Amino acid sequence: MRGEFPDFRLGSVLATSFTGTLSERHGNAVERIPTPHRLVDWLVVNGLAVDSCTTAQLELARELRESIHAAATAAAIQGPLPAPAVQVINDCSAQGRAAAILTPEGERRWRLSSASRVEDALGVIAADAISIIAGERDGKLALCASPTCKAAFFDTSHSRTRKWCDMNTCGNRQKKARFIAKQRKNPASGE
Ligand SMILES: [Zn+2]
Repeated sequence: MRGEFPDFRLGSVLATSFTGTLSERHGNAVERIPTPHRLVDWLVVNGLAVDSCTTAQLELARELRESIHAAATAAAIQGPLPAPAVQVINDCSAQGRAAAILTPEGERRWRLSSASRVEDALGVIAADAISIIAGERDGKLALCASPTCKAAFFDTSHSRTRKWCDMNTCGNRQKKARFIAKQRKNPASGE
């Protein structure tokens, strides 16, 4: 079953990994959580395991995702935050009842109030989004330079000059396109 769905993109920032479950928003959009089961898979991979998900919960998750995308995009270009998006993020954050747990090994784990509370997991994601949009964490929101993507990502590079949301996809594609354009302009230097 798993093979028929697009892979997840793994990032170190929870909120923007979540918005990355819809990619190529300005091209041929790729939906990486097309079914409730795929959202369950994504939550497991991101340390927020639930045992089930309804269609309504998936819809709520997508609403939160697009709200984070809208607010993070506005923050990246230093524009005013869209009020409806802020409302959805705040509602999701307020409804979450997950607890941060410190393991004996010194790691943080999330404990949901029940294994079917997708809302608890969404609350953790919403709170993560709030922390990066509010500038509480070391890094800067930026937009992917790929014209078909323009995803908001959290740049934690030292120089804050990262250009792409994901090096393996957007970054590689841009590099390849530039290489081909250069070859065309100057064929003698190629092979
Ligand atoms: Zn991108």
